[in-house]
Parts: sequence; C-alpha cells; structure tokens
Amino acid sequence: MNNTLNPMQIYNLLEKSNCRECGEHTCMAFAAAVFKGQKSLSACPRIDENTLQQHSSLEPAMTGTEKNMQQAMQSLQQQIPEIDLTEAAWRTGGIFENKKLTLQIMGKNFSVDTNGGLDSEIHVNPWISIPVLQYILHGKGKEPTGNWAPFKELPNGRPRAALFEQRCEKPLKRVADNYPDLFYDILDLFDATEVDKGFRADVSFLLYPLPRLPMIIAWWYPAEDLESALHIFFDETAKDNLGVDGVFSLGTGLAMMVEKLALRHGVKGFVPL
Ligand code: SF4
Repeated sequence: MNNTLNPMQIYNLLEKSNCRECGEHTCMAFAAAVFKGQKSLSACPRIDENTLQQHSSLEPAMTGTEKNMQQAMQSLQQQIPEIDLTEAAWRTGGIFENKKLTLQIMGKNFSVDTNGGLDSEIHVNPWISIPVLQYILHGKGKEPTGNWAPFKELPNGRPRAALFEQRCEKPLKRVADNYPDLFYDILDLFDATEVDKGFRADVSFLLYPLPRLPMIIAWWYPAEDLESALHIFFDETAKDNLGVDGVFSLGTGLAMMVEKLALRHGVKGFVPL
C-alpha cells in the first residue's frame, strides 16, 4: 500500500473526467488502485509529466523480475563503451553519427551513445531494450534470407515455444480479434506493411523490430466453427542476429507495447492478460 498520499489526495491529482482510458471505470477507482499499489500513476494517460515527476513515490515497487531486467540492462549498457559503434552500425544496419548509434525499431529511432546512454522516439520497455542491446553487442549482422520459421523451429526454440505463444502470440491475437481497427492502427504506427508471404493467412504483416530482424504476423480470421489464429514467423537468420532468448524477449516486449497502446487509446475496459 502507498502511504505517501491518501486516495482523495491522489484523486485530486487527476483530471476527474472518468474517461476510463486507464481501464478503471472512474478516476476515484483509479486513485484507490494507485493507493493500494495495484496501478502506477503513469497508467493515467491524461496526467501531466510534472505531476508524475513530483509524485514518483506513487510508482509501485519493482518486482523481482523487473529488478533483474533493470540489472541486466545496466550490465549490457556498461559493455557498450567497450565496442566500436561505427563497426556496430555497419553490422546492425544502423547509422553512427554524433557519437550515437541509431537503429530503426519498427520505424522509430532508438539510439545508444558511446557511454551506453539510451534515447528513443517511442517508449520501449526493458523486454525490448535488452534484446536491442544484445543485437548491438553480439549480433552477427547476417542479411535476412527470406526463409521464415515459427519460434519453435529456431534453434533451442522448442522448449520455450508454449511460453512464447502465451506471452506474445495470444495477447496479440486477443487485441486483433477484439479490436481489429485498433490492431491495424497499431501495426501502421509500427510501420508494418501488408504482404503475401504464402502463409495462407487471411492477412500477413511484415515489420522490423530491428533492421536485420524482420518478422511476419500472420492472422487467420475466425470462420464458422473455426477459431481465429495468429502466428509469428521470423527470418531464419534471427538465430545469428539475436538468438532465441533475445527473440523471446523481443516478442514479449512487442506484445506488451501493443496491449499498453490498446489501453491508452481508449479501449474501454481493456485489461491486459
Ligand atoms: S485515465 Fe482514468 S484516472 Fe485518468 S482521467 Fe481517465 S478515468 Fe481518470
């Protein structure tokens, strides 16, 4: 429970419009959830940055997993000064300019400077930042071949395939099935292009979470007695350019971003799994 402000004081920081964009029915319910530590103040998209900064103590404490990820990210950032970012730019398909390596992540700039500092045009979570840093540090820079494979067919993918489905494919399918217009808008925001790659899906999208790591989202609409399906395919070079752990993290982070956008863009009552 957060004891620095009581629920009414938290409520007074809010817009009080009951717009529901945070997933709660009222601002008062949201204030109560923040007080109990169940929600972060930043989950209200209408709150301004100054208020957020003044009340950073209202952010829930990091979980063990979040702390581990934070540490993993810092450790990777500390390794950046040891590599040549000019060479890394050539290898990763990025650009090195003004002491910064900039990569396009789903059409948006993500930069790392020579000290390991990060800067991004979009709010990315550690599930994405970590594989981006791994890609910069250890990626082999192979050109994609156009041969596609599901996660389970990547080397060492099979043991984690069920979890990948749970953490990545199912949440994306849920947004796609329930809010198709929003799903298309999000794919557009991520610079995805519709392609025909022979998956026999109703619709397939190509996107680039990293310059040399394309992925396909293939979606089959529900039909008569058949449930819909959504599957993700990676270029076979994903094993060299990132590795299966990085691909797992990237897919999970992408699904989290889509769920968060669904929440922030007015899907009433949308609650991530
Ligand atoms: S997002 Fe939630 S807390 Fe923020 S103004 Fe709307 S209802 Fe209130």
